[in-house]
Amino acid sequence: MKKAIDKVRFAGADDLARVLLVLLMEHGPLCEKCLGRDAKMPLSQVGVHLVLLRETIAVRIEDRECPGCARSGASDSRGNARLTQVFSLDLER
Ligand SMILES: [Zn+2]
Repeated sequence: MKKAIDKVRFAGADDLARVLLVLLMEHGPLCEKCLGRDAKMPLSQVGVHLVLLRETIAVRIEDRECPGCARSGASDSRGNARLTQVFSLDLER
């Protein structure tokens, strides 16, 4: 875990990318919307910094329910959390 942070720091990623990294570490997997909400960052910025992170460390992208959205009650009329792109850290690589 700490190694991932060091790697991102070493790559010169800025504070916002590190904020996303910590969020993914502690609360991931999360979708862009949840990351933006938790990091208090506009979605466009989340996208930019996710790209930065993915150049530095392994970030896994999956199409599935976002646990963060499920927690916050953002679900469809049948009570299912929406399928979306969620991001998580792949620290094995
Ligand atoms: Zn979400």
